[in-house]
Amino acid sequence: MTDSTSFQTLALSAPILANLESLGYKEMTPIQAASLPLILQQRDVIAQAKTGSGKTAAFSLGILAKLNPMYFAIQGLVICPTRELADQVANELRRLARAIENVKVLTLCGGTAMRPQIASLEHGAHIVVGTPGRLIDHISRGTINLNTVQTLVLDEADRMVDMGFYDDIVHIIKASSPRRQTLLFSATFPDDIKRVSQELMRDPEQIKVEAQH
Ligand code: ADP
Ligand code: MG
Repeated sequence: MTDSTSFQTLALSAPILANLESLGYKEMTPIQAASLPLILQQRDVIAQAKTGSGKTAAFSLGILAKLNPMYFAIQGLVICPTRELADQVANELRRLARAIENVKVLTLCGGTAMRPQIASLEHGAHIVVGTPGRLIDHISRGTINLNTVQTLVLDEADRMVDMGFYDDIVHIIKASSPRRQTLLFSATFPDDIKRVSQELMRDPEQIKVEAQH
């Protein structure tokens, strides 16, 4: 028997499931159990849950489930408020991506020289994790192509809006493929976030998990 909080109930590949087990991820957290079935059905999802509830793995598995490693183009884009958070997300993505051969995850944050980032982009990546300012910089220089993005994630969206990144976020989303799936993760759901979701998401399903398990 597999209960409803087992990762085994999800439409994930055998290598991804085996890797989750080797990472010690036995059961889904409540936000993962609520969001992953919808994410894997390619729905746009707005997910609200507090810190430490496992939101990173929820969207990372959404990106990885439909990633084609043979196609060397940016298929996943995660926008984070800070460099520290971008590094954490990239690390979690790399751990979860061990199941798939040769997945390249690239972080693009400010406070780092531009030239090596441009060289890395020229070399190629499957998934980019970045902060709004630096992503905008690459878009305006024409050094990043987001036409191939299949999954776009706004992580800690409320924090990004608080930090004044609203216009940047809208700009980045509009520069991404219109065929993308959009996932929005936020601890709260203020008016600006509602506006983003109404204007830039496709019939989003909203999920809120109140308590820790
Ligand atoms: P959030 O983004 O919601 O604040 P994180 O995604 O950073 O939380 O997850 C917090 C911690 O929980 C991380 O160390 C992560 O590796 C771990 N974690 C996530 N999902 C699971 C799971 N299903 N089982 C065990 N640990 C998990
Ligand atoms: Mg998080």
